[in-house]
Order: sequence, then C-alpha cells, then structure tokens
Amino acid sequence: MASQSTIYEPCRSSSNLIPLIIVVFMFHPISAAASTHISDGLKNDLFPDILKEEAVARIYELGKVSDADSYLERTFLSPGSVRAGNLISTWMADAGLTTWVDGLGNVHGRIEPPNASRKALLIGSHLDTVVDAGMFDGALGIVSAISAIKVLKVTGRLMHLRHPVEVIAFSDEEGVRFQSTFLGSAAIAGVLPVSTLQIADKSGLTVQNVLKENLLDTNEENLSLLKYEPESVLGYVEVHIEQGPVLESVGLPLAVVKGIAGQTRLKVTVRGSQGHAGTVPMSMRHDPLVAAAELIVSLENLCKNPQNFISNEGSDGHCNAFSVKSLSGSLVCTVGEISTWPSASNVIPGHVIFTVDIRTIDDIGREAIIYELSNQMHNICDRRSVSCLMERKHDANAVSCDSGLNSQLKSAAYTALKRMTGEDIGEVPVLMSGAGHDAMAMSHLTKVGMLFVRCRGGISHSPEEHVLEDDVWAAGLAIQAFLETNL
Ligand SMILES: [Zn+2]
Repeated sequence: MASQSTIYEPCRSSSNLIPLIIVVFMFHPISAAASTHISDGLKNDLFPDILKEEAVARIYELGKVSDADSYLERTFLSPGSVRAGNLISTWMADAGLTTWVDGLGNVHGRIEPPNASRKALLIGSHLDTVVDAGMFDGALGIVSAISAIKVLKVTGRLMHLRHPVEVIAFSDEEGVRFQSTFLGSAAIAGVLPVSTLQIADKSGLTVQNVLKENLLDTNEENLSLLKYEPESVLGYVEVHIEQGPVLESVGLPLAVVKGIAGQTRLKVTVRGSQGHAGTVPMSMRHDPLVAAAELIVSLENLCKNPQNFISNEGSDGHCNAFSVKSLSGSLVCTVGEISTWPSASNVIPGHVIFTVDIRTIDDIGREAIIYELSNQMHNICDRRSVSCLMERKHDANAVSCDSGLNSQLKSAAYTALKRMTGEDIGEVPVLMSGAGHDAMAMSHLTKVGMLFVRCRGGISHSPEEHVLEDDVWAAGLAIQAFLETNL
C-alpha cells in the first residue's frame, strides 16, 4: 500500500565514505582546578565577588522560584515566572540598568550611555523553565550578563559604552505551557504570528487571556509594536549552558557556537490489520507495530551513516548544495514518542503512531534525509502490506551565528580564560548547537552570537543540571571582556 510524505528532490547513491567529524578542536585542556592558582594581584581584577559568588548565589536564588513545591517549574507568565521576572528586574536595576516589562512579559534592563550610537547590543536568555528543570538553563545567561554589566558599573565604565546595551530575560523559550516556543523572543523579532495569541493551555486559557490576567494589553492589533526595528539593533548575544557533553570531554569551560541546527518534526502513522493475538497466523498478519519497529531501526541506520545512503556527488545539481560531511557531523534523529491502538497485550495493533525529530546544521541535507526516509518507509510498508503516512509537523531552518560576533566572543572567552588561569589556553572550541535557543528567533531581527558554558555530564532539563562555580565566573568574565571591546 502506498506511503505518503512530503517529497524532496532525490540525492541518491552512496560513494566516497567520509568520516564523521563533529568539530575540529585545537586546545590545551585545562581543568576548573587550574583557576585556583590565580595570583592574588590578578584576583582583584577578576571580580570574584560579583562574577562568581554573587552570580552563583543569584542562580541558586532564582532556582528556588518555582510554581511547584518540590521541583523547579516556571512556565509562561505563571506566578513563579512573574516572581522570577521581578527578582531579575531588581538585579538589573542594581547593575545600573533602567528596567521595564514589555507586552509579552519579557523583562528588559537597558543602559543608554550619553554619547552612545543608536544601535543597541542585546544580550539575553530565557527566564522560563521546563517541568522539573535544572536551575542553570536560561538563568546562567541572564545572570552572567547582569553581573558583567554590574562590573562595568562599579568600575565607573558603564557610561563609556559606545552602544546602548540591553539585557532581556525572555518570558518563554521552552514552550511548555502553550506548546509554542519562543513566545517572548519571537515577538521582539517580529516573527510571532498573531494567531499565537489564541492558542490555549491545558486549562483552556489562551495566551491573550494570560496576558490580560497579568495586566498586559497586547492583542492582535498592537502585537507588532513589540517588534524592534533592525536599524535600532547592533546584534544579539546569548550565553547558555551547553546541554551536551563536549566541553566537559575536552576539559574547557567555554565554547563559541557556530550555529544552531535546523529541525523537522514528523508524525508517522502506520495502519495494519487489527486482530486476535491468538488466532491470526503469523504469515497472515499485517502488524503495524512490527513495521514501525523496522522503520525506527532503519531511521537509526540512516542517521548514523547518512553517507551510505545519500551523496552530494549525484548528477542533479541540487545535491551539490549541501555537504555530506557537514550533514554527517551534525545529524541526529530521535523517535521519542510512540503509541499503539488499542494497546492491549492480546491484540495485534490496528495502528501505530510515532514521532521523528531530525536535526542538522545542513538544511538541504535534512531534506535529503527526509526524502530517503520516505523512500525507505515506502519500501518497508509495501513489503509488509501496511499503509504509512508521514506528516511534517514542524520545520525550523538552521541558524548560522555571525562570524564577526563570534570572533569577538572567541577572543573574549580566550581573554577570560587566560585571566583566570594565567595560561595560554590555545584555541577556544567551536561547537554546533543541537538545541534551539532564543538566538534562533532573534536571528530574524539581527545577527546573533552565542557562548556555551560547560555543564556536568552534559545533563540539562533535569534537576541534576550543574555548572561549576568557576565556570559561572568564566562566563561572566567573558561577557565582561566582550563588553569591554565596546568601550
Ligand atoms: Zn535554555
């Protein structure tokens, strides 16, 4: 029976196996312990009281602001989120920033130095969390930016910045409450559809209702007023925990982010013949669950070894537009959800639904993978006499970070680490981000740059999430060094 899917022009054949490469590093590993060897003379220049002790204390304080008693949860404009926003606002004011909350609940703090140009440098991250979250996701970026600005204030240099600087704590990045990510940053970037205001949460409250409850009068007519003009913005920078294990494995606290992977979410429905587990002979079954199992294993094989299935050396010109090498280095595919009907131990299922999440930095390569997957699905489902339907539920293109901002962030990270360790740490690593960030939405407004900070075991979206105190310090110092280049 036929399978259906969104078809992309083929990139067929397999040849020239290319080894998988994630990122090229040049570094001399250092450990956090190295930073304990800072000389006393230098230590005074490193502002450990603000960038380490106070910053860490603030992250822990924010980590206690929750809608739940026994775990961390703050969703879009929930009571916990509002309390967190108020707390962040006091820290912004303490750092010398003028604060306000915009019509979508984003918390802003801005400094407008007297002789600054019009274009503002934006630095931000999100104040919302997932359910049973860690305390560093989002918070680290907000706190390190505020702390770095506070250092400029206490050293009397804040008013000497050449550009206005604005810290933004975005109200929604995780998308937990409304299943729609980047509500805050997308509004500022001007890419939030007005229809989003009518999306309802589990209790039936719409985004619009929730805004109204919080005395925010954003509606279909004035949503576009939240959008920043591209001419008024210099760029957007975000510090975020890596949420992966690479920095820990190379023994360094900071990396520059080259880009954020594009993503497609698929829903696959496999329909077979529902029947009695005891009476239908094996040879006469059309079992959709076994077909789904074969599809999932073939997806894993495809994503582990894309070079065996697709090539950019095909005869059609389209295939030259992406690199199998970059695809191989960043491609990850996941089946995270599966359900069977009627889901009973003595029934051959009638149908099976599962999700596929495909991410890579290479957008055209992602399409080639989806095309190949749909081909394999067609063959497997035909052979097993079941019907298969593949639907695209979500697409987001990859985002490349700005090379200019990245080289500034790279030298800022280098300077910070050298000041902390007193050693030349060599090249700062460059990583890809497999997770989405507010920088994705902000890339529609302006050029973006990101720094990643090492987290223990690469664990995130878990209470086990942890960042060393010295790494919080390194992040603050790097943003401070980055801001100093704007003095
Ligand atoms: Zn995050």
